[in-house]
Amino acid sequence: MKRIVVLGGGESGVGAAVLAKVKGFDVFLSDKGNIVRKYSDMLKEWDIPFESGQHTESLILNADEVIKSPGIPSTAPIVEKITAAGIGIISEIEFAGRYDKARKICITGSNGKTTTTSLIYHLLKNAGLNVGLGGNIGKSYAFQVATGHYDIYVLEISSFQLDNMYDFKADIAIITNITPDHLDRYGNKIENYVRAKFRITRNMSDEDCFIFCSDDEITINHLNKIVVRARKLPFTQKGEVKEGAFIRDDKMIVRYNDSECDMFLQELALGGKHNIYNSMAAAIAGKVMNIDNDTIREALSSFQAVEHRLEKVLSVGDVLYINDSKATNVDAAWYALECQTRPVVWIVGGTDKGNDYTPLLPLAKEKVKAIICMGLDNKKIHDAFGKIVPEMHDVTSAEAAVKLASGIAVAGDVVLLSPCCASFDLFRNYEDRGRQFKEAVRNL
Ligand code: ADP
Repeated sequence: MKRIVVLGGGESGVGAAVLAKVKGFDVFLSDKGNIVRKYSDMLKEWDIPFESGQHTESLILNADEVIKSPGIPSTAPIVEKITAAGIGIISEIEFAGRYDKARKICITGSNGKTTTTSLIYHLLKNAGLNVGLGGNIGKSYAFQVATGHYDIYVLEISSFQLDNMYDFKADIAIITNITPDHLDRYGNKIENYVRAKFRITRNMSDEDCFIFCSDDEITINHLNKIVVRARKLPFTQKGEVKEGAFIRDDKMIVRYNDSECDMFLQELALGGKHNIYNSMAAAIAGKVMNIDNDTIREALSSFQAVEHRLEKVLSVGDVLYINDSKATNVDAAWYALECQTRPVVWIVGGTDKGNDYTPLLPLAKEKVKAIICMGLDNKKIHDAFGKIVPEMHDVTSAEAAVKLASGIAVAGDVVLLSPCCASFDLFRNYEDRGRQFKEAVRNL
């Protein structure tokens, strides 16, 4: 019997282990850290042997194939040993794709993956289709392939998952945009990161569609260098395209085959220039899936924002509090500032991932009246903005940040948490940071 070893006991790894079990493999799961109760219970329930707190090499290096969770870097010692032993390493998505005949719409990119994935799922569900949502979001794809049946999947796929994908094929692939992020995992080379993102177009034929942002220079430069066989459907906010999506006057226009769908920008449920891009990508996918124009318009205007993404929390004394805790890089924070029309008290900071804050300077100068640095080491933020923003403060908790912000902001202002940085210095993760922020706002 073929032996499959799964590395990592989180959502993705446990889903892969369950699928391997269902398909009759000899399965073993190993996690060097802790496995949370929910997942260890699941492994027991499915009768899957596992270990935590260690990697026992004799139980791993006898695998025929290894499924690696995306959080484990390829430089981890156990991964290097597996590679040296000549054992193939794949991702959970690659594995599940082998057993799934559904049509697959796959979304990757530096920012906007979750929003675009959720928009498309909402759209297809509203159209009455039998559609599943997976990848980096909600239940793992592999678990759903093991236990359910969908005609279509909408999958959010990170570059870490793409790294170990080989034969998987998307029917519709989307790259929302590409800006430097996670470069530490790519030998600090943007080229490697870009190549990983473009793996989403592997194995596609001319019957498949590739949806991308033609305003994104990094995407276009790479696309000019490689062959993508899929039909190309760009979206843009500069000029018109023959097929794809663009803006004319105050409307978004989507063209596919000989059909056109238009919609007033004002009717889009999600505000901000970045969300026009996300809505465009979703609308093109809708057209390719043959969804009628009314359903596309209805879905894009009824969508509810995803938690921690420019989420409006509350207005207190006509000061609006916005939770954009998921903005963990410069580009995301740029869009958050760009779409503000009121003076901003900006809560920013955390674990710096090698940020270059220069692109934010003009927006900060124009819109930000005070900065509250929420992090253990705020030097780079002070250096970048100290001379252009009149008021700078430092805090080390969400509660202190909100209290201070409420003292600075006056009626008509916005308090924006858009940290531009990872959260791990003060919080468990970005969700924890966002929730603590919201809790503090509600306690005002
Ligand atoms: P991802 O899943 O790729 O991290 P999200 O949809 O969760 O993307 O959004 C992450 C952050 O990026 C949020 O702060 C959001 O407001 C911002 N964002 C969303 N879409 C875009 C986009 N198309 N371009 C730039 N920033 C975006």
